[in-house]
Amino acid sequence: MLSVLRKIVQEVSAAPDLESVLDLIVRRIQRAMRTQVCSIFLFDPVHQRYVLRATQGLNQEAVGKVSLSMTEGIVGQVGKRAEPINLEDASRHPAFHYLQATGEERFHAFLGVPIIHHRSVLGVLVVQQMEHRRFDESEEAFMVTLSAQLAGIIAHAEATGSVNMEPVASPDKTGTEKVPPVVVHDKRFNGVAAAPGVAIGEVVIATVTAELETVPDKPARGVERELEDFQAALESVRDDLSTLGKSLAQRLRPEEQALFDVYLRMLDDTALRGEIEKRIHQGQWAQGALRDVILAQVQQFSRMEDAYLRERATDVRDLGRRILSYLQESAGPVQMECPDNAILIADELSPAMLGMVPEEKLAGLIAVSGSGNSHAAIMARSIGIPTVMGVVDLPFTRLEGRKVIVDGYSGRVYVNPSDQLLEAFERVIRDEQAVAAGLEGLKDLPAETTDGYRMPLWVNTGLVADVTRSLDRGAEGIGLYRTEIPFMIRDFFPSEQEQLQSYRNQLEAFAPRPVTMRTLDIGGDKALPYFPIEEDNPFLGWRGIRVTLDHPEIFLVQVRAMLRASEGLNNLRIMLPMVTSLHEVEEALRQIDRAVEELQDEGYQVSRPPVGVMVEVPAAVYQVRRFARLVDFISVGSNDLTQYILAVDRNNPRVAGLYAAYHPAVLRALQYIARETRREGKPVSICGEMAADPGGALLLMAMGYEVLSMNANNLPRVKSAIRGVSLVRAQSLLSRVLRMADAEEIHQYLRETLKGLGLGQLTRPHLPNQQ
Ligand code: PEP
Ligand code: MG
Repeated sequence: MLSVLRKIVQEVSAAPDLESVLDLIVRRIQRAMRTQVCSIFLFDPVHQRYVLRATQGLNQEAVGKVSLSMTEGIVGQVGKRAEPINLEDASRHPAFHYLQATGEERFHAFLGVPIIHHRSVLGVLVVQQMEHRRFDESEEAFMVTLSAQLAGIIAHAEATGSVNMEPVASPDKTGTEKVPPVVVHDKRFNGVAAAPGVAIGEVVIATVTAELETVPDKPARGVERELEDFQAALESVRDDLSTLGKSLAQRLRPEEQALFDVYLRMLDDTALRGEIEKRIHQGQWAQGALRDVILAQVQQFSRMEDAYLRERATDVRDLGRRILSYLQESAGPVQMECPDNAILIADELSPAMLGMVPEEKLAGLIAVSGSGNSHAAIMARSIGIPTVMGVVDLPFTRLEGRKVIVDGYSGRVYVNPSDQLLEAFERVIRDEQAVAAGLEGLKDLPAETTDGYRMPLWVNTGLVADVTRSLDRGAEGIGLYRTEIPFMIRDFFPSEQEQLQSYRNQLEAFAPRPVTMRTLDIGGDKALPYFPIEEDNPFLGWRGIRVTLDHPEIFLVQVRAMLRASEGLNNLRIMLPMVTSLHEVEEALRQIDRAVEELQDEGYQVSRPPVGVMVEVPAAVYQVRRFARLVDFISVGSNDLTQYILAVDRNNPRVAGLYAAYHPAVLRALQYIARETRREGKPVSICGEMAADPGGALLLMAMGYEVLSMNANNLPRVKSAIRGVSLVRAQSLLSRVLRMADAEEIHQYLRETLKGLGLGQLTRPHLPNQQ
C-alpha cells in the first residue's frame, strides 16, 4: 500500500491546477480502494459551504453545483468534528442529507475523512459503496494517511488558482446554479511576522541563478525575441557539452561518455523543444516556458518504475538548468525592471538577494521559507523593511508584477488587494510614519529612566549601511558586529587585508565608542557558498566556535585582522559565539594571545582587547560564573538561547508559533545569567532581538543587564520606552511577569503596561482584517 500511496501523492503533486489535482485524487483513490465512489467536497469560506468539487462515481453534472452547509449532512459532521465517519449505511445516520443531483441514493457504505491543513478543515474526502458494510480499519487508515499528505497539495493548488484569478464556482444556497466567476480580492496568505511594518507594492521575484523552481511567470517580451534567446541558449549548451565531452574524453569510461550523447540527444529532441516553443507562442517568456516543460518532465521521469529511467530526471533537470543560466544571462539583471515600491519575494531569502533591488526602491520582503528569528529576518529588521516569512502556501512564481500588501506585524500577505483594504493599510503606514518622526528628536537624549537610571543602548551591525544608520539613531557602541555577513556575500574567504579594511571601517566610524566583534559564526542557517556544511541537524551541529576552533587558520586570520584594524583606536572587543564548554574558551583565548604576540613581533602596536563569551546554549547558562571568571564580559544571545531552551528551530515556520521570547523558562534563564555574572563582578549585556522590543528591554533593564544591544532601527523605540518609565516601575513589572506561567499572557501584559504608561504607540498598531 505504501508504494500506491507514494505514487498517488507524487502524481497529484505534479498536476498543473486545482481541477486536475482533485480529479486525479478521486480517480486514483477510487481505483486503489476499489470503491464505487470517491468524491471531494471543498470548503468555500465565502459562502461557508462544502461544495462538491470532484467525483468519480456520482453524477458529473453535480460537480460545482451541489453543496452542503457546515451543519448539513454527514460531510458537514466530518468537517465539524474534524475526524473520520465510517458508516455501514449512511442513509440511517441522523445527519444524512440526500443530495438528489448526485445520484447517491444507490450507495450505502460511507467513509468520510477531513482534509486538514494548518489546523483548519479544507474539505472532506468521501468514498462510498453500494453494499452495506463498514470500511475496514486499514482502509480508513489509508484514507487518513492520504488525506493528511494531500492536504498541503490541495491548499497550494487552491491558493495558486485564487491568485490566478481563475473562475471559481460559487454555488448559491440551493446548490443548483453556477454563479459567474468572481475575481478574488484580498486573498490572504499567512506566514510569520519577521520585521514589523506595513508595505504596499509590486512584486519582484528574486530568481536564483539556474534554479528552475524560482523562475517567475512573465509575459514574453515579443515572441520572436524569446524564440531567438531560446535558440541561442540551446546552441550555447550544445557547444559547452561537446567541448566538455571532448576534453574529458580521455578520462571518462564509455558509459560516462554516453551521458554526453544522452544530453545532446535531449537537446535535439524536437518534442521537448516544440513544447517549449509552443508555450512561448502562447505568450510565456522563454524562462517560464522552459521551467514548465522541464519540471513536468522531471516529474514524469521520477515517477517511473524503472530505476534507470528514474535517474533520467536528474539529467533533464541538469540540462534545464544549463539552458536557464544562458537565458538568465541574456535577460540581464533584475534591477533593470524594478518598480518604485518593490516587494521582493524569494523562496529562501539571503543577504545577497537584498542587493537585487536598489535600497531606495525596496519596500517589503516576503520569503516562502524561514522564520522570524532566522538571520535573514534579523537583517530585514535592521534595515527596517517590513517582512513576512514562512508563507509556505504562497504560489510565488505567479506573482511577478502583482500588487500586494505585506503586513509585517501579523505575518500576512494580501494578494490583489481591494481599494478598501489598501486604504485601511495606507492609514496604518501614515500613522507609523508619524510615530517614527516623533521619535527622531530622541537622538541626542540619553536613555534615562524617570528616576535617573542610565541605560547604555548599543547596536548590532553586519551590513555596511548599519553604521550610518546606527550613528544617526544615537548608538553608544556596537554590542555585536556579525562578521559572518560580509563573509556571506562573497565567493571565497576574505584575506586578512580585506577583513582588516572592513573592520577598520567599523572601528573608526564608532571610535572612541566600543565595537564588539564576534568571531565568525557560520553554520546553522548561515551558510557560506564556498564552504558548504551539509548536516541533518545544522543548529546542533558544526556551528560558531566549533568551526573556527577546528580551523585555526580561519580563526587566526580573522583575529589578526581585528587586532590590526584596532591599532591606534583601542575600541575593539572580541566576542566568542556558541560556546558550550570551558575548554573552548581557554583554547580561543590561547589563539587570541598567540595572534597578539605574533603581531607584536611583527612590530604592530597591539594588545589583547577585552574578550567576552556569548551565552547562547543552556550549557553556558549553568556555567556562566566559570566563564565570567575567564573573560572580561558576558553577552547573551537570546535568539539562540530561546531556540535551544525551547527546542524550537528558529528558522522553521512550522514551529514558529512555539518560539516564544517571553516563555517563562527563557525569562528565568535570562535573570539567572544576569545575577550570576554580576556576582563575579563582570559586566553583562544582551544582544539578542529581545533587547529590541520595548517591553523586553524594560524587563532586561530590571534584571540588571548593563548594556542592551539591538538593531539600529528599533533603538529610538526602546529609548522612548526607557525614558517613559522609572527603574522601580520596571522592577515591579518584572516581578509580576516572573509570576506568570504563560508566554502569551506575559506578552499581552507587557503591551497593556506600555499602553498604561502612555507608550501605546511603541506597540503594534491596530491593523485591519485581523479576524
Ligand atoms: C543570538 O543568538 O541571540 C545572537 C545575537 O546571535 P545570532 O542571532 O547572530 O545567532
Ligand atoms: Mg546566536
